Amino acid sequence: MPELPEITVKARQMKAELVGKAFTGAEVLQPKCLNVEPEAFAAALTGARILNVFHRGKWLFLETTQGWLLLNLGMGGDVLLVTRDTLPEKHLLIFDFDDGSCLAVHFWWFGYCHHVTELADHPMTAKLGPNALEMTAEDLRAMLGGRRGRIKSYLLDQSKLAGIGNAYIHDILFLARLHPLRPANSLTGVEIDALAQAIHDGLQPSIDKGGAYYERDLYGRRGGFTADDIIIGYKEGLPCPVCATLIEKIKTGSTSSFICAQCQPIERDH
Ligand SMILES: [Zn+2]
Repeated sequence: MPELPEITVKARQMKAELVGKAFTGAEVLQPKCLNVEPEAFAAALTGARILNVFHRGKWLFLETTQGWLLLNLGMGGDVLLVTRDTLPEKHLLIFDFDDGSCLAVHFWWFGYCHHVTELADHPMTAKLGPNALEMTAEDLRAMLGGRRGRIKSYLLDQSKLAGIGNAYIHDILFLARLHPLRPANSLTGVEIDALAQAIHDGLQPSIDKGGAYYERDLYGRRGGFTADDIIIGYKEGLPCPVCATLIEKIKTGSTSSFICAQCQPIERDH
């Protein structure tokens, strides 16, 4: 599933390539991913010029002269800049541009491709929290205070901070030396500082390498962030790189977590 690093890379590439292009049409092979009828969707975009591209969490925002195109790849998918002559075999939507290029979109499972005139009219993105990478320790302190939920659930809650999912959460918690089941309001000031740093250190290396290897960028290239770059996530039975204790896979609510029990104790001695 694409998370903040992969979406950040896509948004940057799309901004560089797409700003200034105008849509000449949209061909939709999977109408259920839209929020309006296909004809209305194509009509709304035709003639629209792209003004900006950015992301929030796992959503891509394309600002145009005729409203917003909002894209969410769900469990994963491709957004490829191609031409009609080089269309990938698998595609569910094609957006044609006035310069002859087009954007081919494919969802591996299910995704969303929505058009709205005003962002406020789109509840799914309106409730997103700020991008995880933009959160300072001060922001975290203000948000975590008084929260009784578990820190892992909190970090995965896209309405609190957007962009962290199951690929990166394990290393972020490890880097912060936090057990996933710690109550959010139990973190000390030092631990919140460490968490802010860990969010950065857990996400930025993947952005720098073009995202995870199992995702493809706008040009179809695989990301350079591989299993070797992951510190403890999905590595149960291997030694912790800090203390050599074997990494464990534990149940945390309805999900699994990968932790070093030595580096991430559930109880802290204060
Ligand atoms: Zn350890």
